[in-house]
Amino acid sequence: MAVVRVRITVTGIVQGIGFRPFIYKAAVKNGLTGYVRNRGDAGVEILLEGTQTSIKNFMQDLKENKPPLAHIYRIITKELDGREEYEKFIIHKSSAKAELSGSVVPPDIAICNECLTELRDPKDSRYEYFFITCTNCGPRYTIIDRVPYDRENTTMQDFPLCDFCKSEYTNPENRRFHAQTVADAKCGPKAYLTTPNGELIESDDPIREAGKRLSEGYIVAVKGYGGFHVATSTTKDDPLIRLRAVKHRSQKPFAIMARDLEVTRTFAEVSKSEEKLLTSYSRPIVLLNKSDAYYLSDLVAPSLHNVGVMIPYTGLHYMLFDKVNDSAFVMTSANPPNQPIINDNEEALRILGKTVDYFLFHNRRIAQRCDDSVARMHGRDLVFIRRSRGYAPAPIMLKEKAKQCIIGLGGELNSTACILLENKAFISQHVGDVENVETKNFLENATKHLIRVTNSKIEAVACDLHPKFTTTKLAQDLAEENDWSLLPVQHHYAHTAALMAEHDVKEIIGICCDGYGYGTDGKAWGGEILLSTQETNCIKRIAHLEEQPLVGGDLATRYPFRIALGILYKSADTEEWLQKNKKYFPHGQKEIEIVLHQLEKGNNIIYTTSCGRVLDAVSAVLGLCHERTYEGEPAMKLESAAIKGRDILGLKPMIKGSRLTTTHLLKEIFEKREKYSVVDLAYSAHAYIAKGLASLAVEKASEHAIRTIGFSGGTACNQILTSIMREVIEAAGLQFLVHTAVPPGDGGLSFGQAVVGGLFDS
Ligand SMILES: [Zn+2]
Ligand SMILES: [Zn+2]
Repeated sequence: MAVVRVRITVTGIVQGIGFRPFIYKAAVKNGLTGYVRNRGDAGVEILLEGTQTSIKNFMQDLKENKPPLAHIYRIITKELDGREEYEKFIIHKSSAKAELSGSVVPPDIAICNECLTELRDPKDSRYEYFFITCTNCGPRYTIIDRVPYDRENTTMQDFPLCDFCKSEYTNPENRRFHAQTVADAKCGPKAYLTTPNGELIESDDPIREAGKRLSEGYIVAVKGYGGFHVATSTTKDDPLIRLRAVKHRSQKPFAIMARDLEVTRTFAEVSKSEEKLLTSYSRPIVLLNKSDAYYLSDLVAPSLHNVGVMIPYTGLHYMLFDKVNDSAFVMTSANPPNQPIINDNEEALRILGKTVDYFLFHNRRIAQRCDDSVARMHGRDLVFIRRSRGYAPAPIMLKEKAKQCIIGLGGELNSTACILLENKAFISQHVGDVENVETKNFLENATKHLIRVTNSKIEAVACDLHPKFTTTKLAQDLAEENDWSLLPVQHHYAHTAALMAEHDVKEIIGICCDGYGYGTDGKAWGGEILLSTQETNCIKRIAHLEEQPLVGGDLATRYPFRIALGILYKSADTEEWLQKNKKYFPHGQKEIEIVLHQLEKGNNIIYTTSCGRVLDAVSAVLGLCHERTYEGEPAMKLESAAIKGRDILGLKPMIKGSRLTTTHLLKEIFEKREKYSVVDLAYSAHAYIAKGLASLAVEKASEHAIRTIGFSGGTACNQILTSIMREVIEAAGLQFLVHTAVPPGDGGLSFGQAVVGGLFDS
């Protein structure tokens, strides 16, 4: 029979997830000879020799039976001349060649069911081995120093395989064939428990011992794949109070890890789509509504209707629960405020020694720090609050190719970096608030690592328009150092462009709401309606919320009563109300007088169109939040209050020209605050803003003959606002778009910046 030779190049997420072993098995099964090898770029190269039919069957296997984590973007098949060269099928060592760019590094993957079963099986040789993994599961991004993804390029190089592991690693029939993370109790990383000073505590079973101490109410730092968690009980108030005190987090919700899905249902509502997300291999923290039977301490997520829950994603996490009855443990990121994640045992002892009672360490180095991802479901839509572990740095595939290879560095808060390379967008792990040297260094390191593992040849760097952001300075330095061009992009333009690229739309009316973004006029924006058409490279502001005064600038952001007073002082009689709420101004009566004087004279005031600040003001008037102790707190508490409310006020949005009036809303809420319930008034405020902005956007869409309206910015994490807007816009017969691949908040900003520089005409 005639022998055919073909070369197949497969690109996508095909390295580090058991793709080569899968190809091997498929080739052998179909009686083909040749080879498979990883390329230094994104792909895998396969050479096949055999009959036409065998190759056809192989191609079918490739498409239909590929490993669960493989994402094939492209298959190129080329018939070759020449005669048969191979007697069998072999797996070549990785090619060091890196002539093409765009490597795809897989994210960390939660323990698979097969490994979990083996972990629990006394007859299995990896019984109770906490870092049991296989080709389908385990850490990836957090252990990779270099590409291609081979053991010697990872932090597993410190753990030479024992004979048993080696026999599995080299056996094509075994499911750990070429699994770079393969290890067992004999040759793999070891866990151990220490005191806060790092003194070893003798124990045959350090992980379960740590679990017991957690259950007893101690605070334990737990080292995972990409960083440390600080863990403690979810039902005992004492350790929670202690943890809040040492972390200086009086109100900010703690994420928790629940024993499993079933237990999660005992304290939270879990929909079908939430269940899928919780148990997905990415295992993000999912914000779930507390159920009526919620029994965890109120100190876990104070005054919020939801709680962030994840389920175990390593063998170690599962084992923590083995000897205790606890449903869940607090598992909060171990970094002090505004500091990047701790990734080194010495560093952990130094920084956390005073916070925790014990350390549960392991002895594997962390190559890349990576925080947990956070997401919520709006009905069936996935909304990223933070896209990090389990997702980063897997690329987002775009329909269109970028005109240049560009990197975006984000804004000031919740930063990420993003490389746009051809039709792939690689977004880094969550870096956080880049306000100081430590976080700037983390962003710079994460950026350089991302460039290295994707083999990108960067031509330009994009940053925020704000002249004083640390990220702007970093972009300027990198541009100078590397001779890249520099592109500052307005904050809300970037959000809107991100939404367009994600959905491949060329024109949009974008509603973009958040706390703050530096406007093209140098003013504080945050409640904007933008017109954007990609072809003409035109993004401009065409409408916005009413400008409102922030007395004392940042002070008003911290104490939302100041914003409320700024909005109300001309339109309502606030005297009695101020007397009652004096205590919420840190300096009491004196401060109130100063604020009123400044309002009168127009001194020390910043004007803003921010949607976040209006929500904050409503939250203050309704007595829900008087001091913002974490980002978004007043608005989040307002949403929580509104979740079971109805539109009792039924206010008609007051639109003046291209401005939605917010004074009208505040005045109404203020005057009816004793007449109606907080719950209904909170909902009414949402309804006013959402209907107002949506109506304004519909009007603008009709003016400019555009059929699509999108909602972006951090405020788009708010489910009530999103669903009311959707209703109004779809009722007008228009398409309504939201983010599903990148966070609507500033974690998606780097992507939007790169899109403006890479996809829009310049
Ligand atoms: Zn596995
Ligand atoms: Zn071993």
